[in-house]
Amino acid sequence: MTATNQPRDVWSSLLPEPLPTQDTELLRQIGFIPGLKELLMVRQVHALEHATVWVLSGASDPSIPDIDFNANWTDTGNLGGLSTEQGFYLYGQVETSEVRRAAREALTRMKGGEWNLAVHPRCGTNFSVGMLLTASLAFSVHLLLPRGPIEQLLGFGFAASTATQLTPELGRLVQQYITTAVPFNLTIQDVAVIADRKGEPDAWGRPTHFIQTAWVN
Ligand SMILES: [Zn+2]
Repeated sequence: MTATNQPRDVWSSLLPEPLPTQDTELLRQIGFIPGLKELLMVRQVHALEHATVWVLSGASDPSIPDIDFNANWTDTGNLGGLSTEQGFYLYGQVETSEVRRAAREALTRMKGGEWNLAVHPRCGTNFSVGMLLTASLAFSVHLLLPRGPIEQLLGFGFAASTATQLTPELGRLVQQYITTAVPFNLTIQDVAVIADRKGEPDAWGRPTHFIQTAWVN
């Protein structure tokens, strides 16, 4: 690998570039491991979920180093998602035809190399990593510091603020390499409005779509 490789932002710098056959190969070799296929599926679906949200918010290829993971993204747009191995839920005031168009465009663009679409700053992963870090740092500090109440309090405050500062970057890396993968194996099967038992939108008044995907080896 040389420095003159075409830059894919941060993709090519440390780990190998995503290959279209990577998950198929993995399944062929160690697919007998229980839960592996589901994990690989949900990673790809998760990336498609993020990409669809990017497309719906009108993004051209977002540059990962430029994404501000510290910004208050909760105020921008009203879209949310939840991924499963069968597809993803999309919460937000969007027409079904628009969701269908965006999901298809997202898949095409990702397969075409716009891998940055897989990473979204408003992902729940950021939060979970923060929680994890806060917990483990707090635990280490608890073990290291003398057991006075003031020191304990200072220690926990320090742990919490350190985790907050580390989280955006770490959350991005976790998203990029662990909780998402380029959806090379996915196709979109169906896009439909999901209603609850009363046939109404969710608790926040937002309609819910389910984008059903299928896995192609
Ligand atoms: Zn996410």
